[in-house]
Amino acid sequence: MILADAKECAVWWTEVGCADPALAALLPAAERDRADRLRRAVDRDRTIVAWALVRTLLAELLGEAAADVAIERHCVRCGSADHGKPRLADRSAGLHFSLAHSGPHVVVAVSRAGPVGIDVEHLKAKSDYRPLYRRTLTADEAAAFHAAGARPHDFLRTWVRKEAVTKAVGTGIATPFHTFAVSGPEELGALLTWPDDPSLVDHTTVLDLPGDPDRPAAVAILARDVRMSEHDGARLLPRRGRR
Ligand SMILES: [Zn+2]
Repeated sequence: MILADAKECAVWWTEVGCADPALAALLPAAERDRADRLRRAVDRDRTIVAWALVRTLLAELLGEAAADVAIERHCVRCGSADHGKPRLADRSAGLHFSLAHSGPHVVVAVSRAGPVGIDVEHLKAKSDYRPLYRRTLTADEAAAFHAAGARPHDFLRTWVRKEAVTKAVGTGIATPFHTFAVSGPEELGALLTWPDDPSLVDHTTVLDLPGDPDRPAAVAILARDVRMSEHDGARLLPRRGRR
């Protein structure tokens, strides 16, 4: 069973290393063609693995074939279908999903509780995150961050929570991260302020995904009291060619 009830957000992990021709068959032709046009093999593999996992999960929940699940884009700002957050074309299904990837990791969240956003980042030892601080942290967050020693882990923890929230809302990068606050990296995940709609604060669940601190990840759901479950996505996907 993919989802036990309407209060669950199921998070499925897999790795780009398990890309396989059998996975491409789970995508409709147009999506497969788009993936094939990506120049780097790793981008192609990642796209195919991520959408194969999304489609497998939705297909299971909807009782359809993976390649037949109708997915559209929708921009919450202008209403365009050319860009914006991917969503199920059949709104009556009440099913929400989000996907993210970083390094070898691919992660997909599905829920009936409400719109969902997920993010994962991969801490790169050589990366300098300092140029991002000002655009990412509120004044209070920045003060706390620097007082705690300005650790990259803390920064990325905050980052993934914020990215998850903007993906759940659907605005993405149109809502600058320094315009809203999340809880401190040592605290349980929570949305503390939101610029346009303060009521969102009481109706959003933010959950950290446990695991490697070098691979911080978080999921946000626009609903109260949602619980998360984590699963191995590789076991859902065709097995041939798995590394
Ligand atoms: Zn737009």
